[in-house]
Amino acid sequence: METTKKDLLSLDEKELTELVLSLGEPKYRAEQLFSQMHKGVSPEQMTNISKSFKQKLSEVAYFYLPTIEKKLVSAIDGTVKYLFALSDGNCVESVVMKYKHGNTICISSQVGCLMGCAFCASTIGGKVRDLAPSELLGQIIAAERDGGERISNIVMMGIGEPLDNYDNVIKFLRLVGNEKGLNIGYRHISLSTCGLVDKIAMLAKEDLPITLSISLHASDDATRSSIMPINKKWNIDALLDACKDYFLKTGRRISFEYTLIAGKNDSVEAAKKLAALLNSKLRSRTETMPIHVNLIPVNEVKESGFERSAKEAVDRFAATLNKLGLRATVRRKLGADINASCGQLRRAHEQENKTSN
Ligand code: SAH
Repeated sequence: METTKKDLLSLDEKELTELVLSLGEPKYRAEQLFSQMHKGVSPEQMTNISKSFKQKLSEVAYFYLPTIEKKLVSAIDGTVKYLFALSDGNCVESVVMKYKHGNTICISSQVGCLMGCAFCASTIGGKVRDLAPSELLGQIIAAERDGGERISNIVMMGIGEPLDNYDNVIKFLRLVGNEKGLNIGYRHISLSTCGLVDKIAMLAKEDLPITLSISLHASDDATRSSIMPINKKWNIDALLDACKDYFLKTGRRISFEYTLIAGKNDSVEAAKKLAALLNSKLRSRTETMPIHVNLIPVNEVKESGFERSAKEAVDRFAATLNKLGLRATVRRKLGADINASCGQLRRAHEQENKTSN
């Protein structure tokens, strides 16, 4: 929408201060705006700033929070899935999961995705656009306001490839950690990537000690390239080198996502190869890098035709990794009754709109 106006919630404190000063207001107004907006209060709704300032501000800037287009609540475990509408009508998904250690939100980083992974619903229509820092924050703020409870953990595992939206994601990470804003610690944030090696190297230097999750999904290049096009640009070897560097620079453990697809990557041989690969590339006699493997039986997406592995195959795969010294757990499926994995609600919504237009 208002492209020439500034997007207030995307501004950091310095930028907000410059804006406030340029409008002839004292510096502390920037702090008031920052802390209120990050609670979801629009400048218009604020009671401690004057009408004339609100007027001046609205002429040069806007504030927008995602609105709830659809909301599904799991009757099994209370997981909440939102389809949020953005200011231009595009929609993205977020999921709030309730754990003993607090509420975790899974947020989207782009509208659609360019990466083309064969099993994934988010990439089917390609990428529409990147999300702004305000839209990344907005998913959390809007979900907190709706749920009435603090969200203390973030996983960037929704629609999109976060490292393909690098600058906005970095700005978002700095904003979300600000103690005057949402104040979510970096140790409570995970970012999942399909393996953009150049960006992993950049991230390692940002001094943002978040947990990196790598979508690995295969233990050899031929299999990985057949389901993840990014592997043709950066193969497993290059990716694991980047992971090792990330660990050496940040000291943060890395977790690997491995989606189990029947007959494709779920054999005992594949598990043995995976253990050998991670142990030899990331661990030696002198250093023990903490590694965690998350096994996710694939969520079946009708367009991909992949089937989830049988329970026995999943258990066998996990047991093989554990026996070979890798901590592996099978991801507990939350929100099974609301199809809580990402990408599918947005697609269904778009198709409904197409047929109704
Ligand atoms: N683009 C990022 C983050 C989004 S996807 C990435 O690739 O990591 C979040 C995780 O869900 C990734 O591990 C992704 O590979 C996985 N995923 C995508 N579609 C899936 C499906 N149908 N079943 C199981 N996992 C899936």
